[in-house]
Amino acid sequence: MRSFVPEQLEALVAQMASQTRPIKIVPKANDRLQRAIDWALRVVTLGGQDRYLSEYVTTLGRTIYVPEGWGETPPIEQYKILRHELVHVAQFERYGWVGMVLVYGVVFLPMGLAWGRARLEWEAYAETLRVTAEVEGLAAAQSPRLRASIVSRFTGPDYAYMWPFPRQVAGWIDAELRMLEEASRG
Ligand SMILES: [Zn+2]
Repeated sequence: MRSFVPEQLEALVAQMASQTRPIKIVPKANDRLQRAIDWALRVVTLGGQDRYLSEYVTTLGRTIYVPEGWGETPPIEQYKILRHELVHVAQFERYGWVGMVLVYGVVFLPMGLAWGRARLEWEAYAETLRVTAEVEGLAAAQSPRLRASIVSRFTGPDYAYMWPFPRQVAGWIDAELRMLEEASRG
């Protein structure tokens, strides 16, 4: 079982800030665009997603927008979330802003079958599984609770029902867990 020390979070944040083009962490509620996205999400999900500003972290380019209460989030959770979001930062570098908007889906559409968005999120959730195994141990990555929460992210209103096929998402999780299991056996 691996352990986590808060210094790992400090080191990660310092590493983000020290880049030539720093990766910034910005409170979401202070940002006009983020408030507009919150409003649009409430409308397209008929109120199903009303926690965008209060609970969700969102990355645009090299800025990671964090919700209310971020500072009180336990360091290990902040660390795991930042590792997920850094995958999105890398995606913006890889595809550019125009590419990300096209792939992620202009203004959250199409709802229900957003394959591009689901693939981008899957790449980041695979990192969530890896970092969970890294800092909390393989059993934590294998936990039914984490599995259920990841599946619901894809199939529920959190991301506007981007990929409503729970068995397929579970299959992606199984494949990643098999790799982690093999890696842990060395
Ligand atoms: Zn994500």
